[in-house]
Amino acid sequence: MIRENLEKVQANINDACARCGRDPKEVTLIAVSKTKPVEMIREAYEAGTRAFGENKPQELKDKAPQLPDDVQWHMIGHLQRNKIKYIIDKACMIHSVDSERLAEAISAEAVKRDIKIPVLVEVNMAGEETKDGIAPEEAEDFIRKISRLPNIRIEGLMTIAPFTDNPEDNRIYFRNLKKLCVDINEKNIDNVFMCKLSMGMTGDYVVAVEEGATMVRVGTGIFGERDYSMR
Ligand SMILES: *Cc1c(COP(=O)(O)O)cnc(C)c1O
Repeated sequence: MIRENLEKVQANINDACARCGRDPKEVTLIAVSKTKPVEMIREAYEAGTRAFGENKPQELKDKAPQLPDDVQWHMIGHLQRNKIKYIIDKACMIHSVDSERLAEAISAEAVKRDIKIPVLVEVNMAGEETKDGIAPEEAEDFIRKISRLPNIRIEGLMTIAPFTDNPEDNRIYFRNLKKLCVDINEKNIDNVFMCKLSMGMTGDYVVAVEEGATMVRVGTGIFGERDYSMR
């Protein structure tokens, strides 16, 4: 089931790339394995997946040692400062930097361990009150400020688009995130060269790829519905 789902999602990504003249190699499919058991992750791994996304630091920390070392773990969820230590040496990227205090704390922990960690800045494109993320109009200022911090590398932007039945509704947010990324790059801020765009989930990843996503985060479409009743 997981293998078939992965093939279907990858085929949809390839088709979307073909439609807009992109190379599918530019798009990383991140299999979002939150709440799912290690056996299912292993199944996806055997089918060739190497990039996995988790949104809870504790869960990432527990799962990482149970899978081979060549898995790339993406921290995609809200991160509290006191949990950074759980994931900083396990995650290949933190997608959800949305405050100066968080960026400073990630930087400090990275310095302490003498590692460099790639991060994305989370932007709340639709201005939803229930969502984390920097407002688009504040993103440049924010990036200027955190660009001076040691041992973090700002590699791009991330967004979680609104929940909708019609993915076309989210096209504008993906398009605007890409535009924001290009605009900020053109400011030539020291230490900032952003080219990664983490956008698109099960309901809207095809549209996100058409609008320039370089990473899509797909959970349900690969592993099936999540069951939160056991937690
Ligand atoms: C859960 C989650 C996803 C995957 O959601 P699906 O709709 O199941 O594909 C993507 N991104 C983030 C940040 C998530 O928390």
